[in-house]
Amino acid sequence: MKSPLFSGIQPTGTIHIGNYCGAIRNWVRLLDTYDGIFCIVDYHALTVAHDVSTTRQRVVDAARVNIAAGLDPEKCVLFVQSRVPEHTELAWILNTVTPMGDLSRMTQFKEKSKQHEDNINAGLFSYPVLQAADILLYKAGAVPVGEDQIQHIELTREVARKFNARFGEVFPEPAHLVPKEGARILGLDGKAKMSKSLGNYVGLLESPEETWKKLAPAVTDENRKRRSDPGNPEICNLYSLHRNFSDDETIATVDRECRVAGIGCVDCKKMLHRSLSATLEPIRERASALEATPGKVEEILDHGAKQAKARAERTMEEVRRAIGVR
Ligand code: SF4
Repeated sequence: MKSPLFSGIQPTGTIHIGNYCGAIRNWVRLLDTYDGIFCIVDYHALTVAHDVSTTRQRVVDAARVNIAAGLDPEKCVLFVQSRVPEHTELAWILNTVTPMGDLSRMTQFKEKSKQHEDNINAGLFSYPVLQAADILLYKAGAVPVGEDQIQHIELTREVARKFNARFGEVFPEPAHLVPKEGARILGLDGKAKMSKSLGNYVGLLESPEETWKKLAPAVTDENRKRRSDPGNPEICNLYSLHRNFSDDETIATVDRECRVAGIGCVDCKKMLHRSLSATLEPIRERASALEATPGKVEEILDHGAKQAKARAERTMEEVRRAIGVR
């Protein structure tokens, strides 16, 4: 039997190529080895200000884009967190074994507290406990994460140990899986990690024209001032995008020709644009087909919630007996 693998998905339809390389593409590969459980974490999203009127649609859009990008609902469980109330039930119980000191040391809490000074709520503080509940509810053996989330998975292991020590062995300790390739895709400014809020991204569903509009002014090796100057692909963000999207022959050509000024940056960007289009076109087509079939995504999410709930109920029966309320 495959070991369960859990991952949370933020409820946003604006998913960019950095998310694709750093997360979705790796999840799809991991489905050969693991029993994938993917949860759109709409309750997590409440910890910061959000637009109530668009929440439901953002959840559906997030599901649609992830399915289109390769998360096949026939091969994994895909559902929405708020549809399985056992997540919040377990989070409460885990709160009682989680040290306040550990939560106050979480880097993400410190950063988000600075970003949202007017709304430092208890949910923001105990967010990692709900995250631990998400993972432990399915007894996940593995959690694919970016480097910025490793601390939260370490806390999840600590919480599992504390629960098991106090109430008896219920939870396995999950391992974190950090992808080797694509873990940190820089934005088109070449400076910060690609992100929606910084506006330095290429969206997964953007048209070839929109993609080119963004690629054309993208920052390359800044030492290469003229077409005749040789460049250094090792320090050029466009080359790292080639390594994620282009075939081996194109990557080798760029590596060689950039160094001897055999190609200019505009040629190089055109090659990257072709590679990106080859990956993104089928994703856009699948997303459009899903959009053209009303109710299809909701149907997939309903089915996923039933599958997730059946598993969550089994764990909660064990937890309730362990803590003595049954
Ligand atoms: S040719 Fe390509 S790899 Fe070299 S500096 Fe220009 S964009 Fe970067």
